[in-house]
Amino acid sequence: PDIIAVVPAAGIGSRMQSGRPKQYLTIGHATILEHSIASLLAHPAINRVIVALGPDDDYFQQLPLASDSRIETVTGGKQRADSVLAGLAAAGNAAWALVHDAARPCLAAEDLNRLLAICRHSRVGGILAAPVRDTMKRSEPGKDAIAHTVEREALWHALTPQLFPLALLRQCLTRALHEGATVTDEASALEYCGYHPELVAGRSDNIKVTRPEDLALAAFYLTQLNN
Ligand code: C5P
Repeated sequence: PDIIAVVPAAGIGSRMQSGRPKQYLTIGHATILEHSIASLLAHPAINRVIVALGPDDDYFQQLPLASDSRIETVTGGKQRADSVLAGLAAAGNAAWALVHDAARPCLAAEDLNRLLAICRHSRVGGILAAPVRDTMKRSEPGKDAIAHTVEREALWHALTPQLFPLALLRQCLTRALHEGATVTDEASALEYCGYHPELVAGRSDNIKVTRPEDLALAAFYLTQLNN
């Protein structure tokens, strides 16, 4: 296919304070991971999803998704970038790689459409992002005191999905990991290698479920999206 989707789902979600990894918590009739994957498969151009699972994952095989022929699994790695690279290694030679967090169940079809429409015309790809609304402060090193205010006008929250030419993403992730760069999303690997991916304005309800209170919020946003 032209686009292969990779969903890193090998994290343990320690900030969630829950027994199971956060992507396996249930919202409505499905787990967070199932909502996240369904939002990708809803797009006509996406019909193959590679999910990177933790080495001791006992949950995935119990989901109906496990027998869906559009979905494959690989074993993820220590860091998110390792998990994405493991997914890309199984991707074959698709032109584009779309990476989406397992823990982002509220992706709207219109946002995915816009990301694909805009980034497929660019050479380096891009990401969904939301403009920062709050006034931003940087703290003094090691202290909870304000050093200064950070100019908000040019700040964005990096969201997912993120879409890049597959070969370029593989090359940048490999180099960034090898050289010990900090890579918390795929775009940071491209930036490290000197590229400037597009920022595509997306909805701010595309949250990453991180803390316990995010569950109720995601449940609410999902009902809104499905109306
Ligand atoms: O921990 P955080 O919320 O930043 O994780 C973002 C995504 O990366 C999650 O979907 C998580 O499962 C995934 N991840 C991974 N492999 C790791 C660490 C995180 O696939 N080693």
